[in-house]
Amino acid sequence: MSQEFFQVAIDGPAASGKSTVARMLAGKIGGYYINTGDMYRTLAWQSLEMGIDTENDPDRVVAMLPQWDVHYRIVDGKPLLFLNGEPVPQSAIRAPEVSAIVSFVARIPALREWMLEKQRECRGLGNIIMEGRDIATVIFPQAKYKFFVTASPMERARRRLAQSGEVVEGATLESVAADIARRDEIDSNRPVAPLKPAPDSVIITTDGYTAEEVTEMLAARILG
Ligand code: C5P
Repeated sequence: MSQEFFQVAIDGPAASGKSTVARMLAGKIGGYYINTGDMYRTLAWQSLEMGIDTENDPDRVVAMLPQWDVHYRIVDGKPLLFLNGEPVPQSAIRAPEVSAIVSFVARIPALREWMLEKQRECRGLGNIIMEGRDIATVIFPQAKYKFFVTASPMERARRRLAQSGEVVEGATLESVAADIARRDEIDSNRPVAPLKPAPDSVIITTDGYTAEEVTEMLAARILG
């Protein structure tokens, strides 16, 4: 019965450190870590594979929706993302080419509508720590715990640059900062479910703190 489970909503801009913290928090308080960004990335990856111009031809992406089945399943005690019955490879969806277009895919209203129920269904899996952009505002406005995890643009660029495999070769701090800023700009200004804290989200700015320290801050608010 899903009512017995709790949801922790963690929103925030790109490369704010929220994924690391959400994963660590799930281990600490007990719960499944769900990354909704990976669900959008999966559709962006597939669109790219099909050669769809996601920026200018959103209707082609929408036309594909009936053929895509994206959901989390528990495998060996851990949530794993599946596309049409196959596990989604992290290396594919975290590629810089996917990061460059994912915000075009995620701003399509009909696609977000399609995604809404798939993300809400995750509450049936158990206690969940779900991260994204609109978890506290749209997906689970009734979540028991809501956080907005952020950091200064330069700190976020530094962290992203340190994540190998997620930036193009030859990337600089400036180029990474510009990529992140462009994605945040699209995510924050779209008409449906833009990136923003819920009025009752606790805002955590992570500059100068380690992931462990931030996880402690969140855990302390949850465990009391
Ligand atoms: O979290 P991550 O940076 O991997 O998310 C990739 C993209 O997916 C975001 O830039 C945003 O466009 C989209 N997204 C979203 N809503 C969410 C999670 C991610 O629009 N809840």
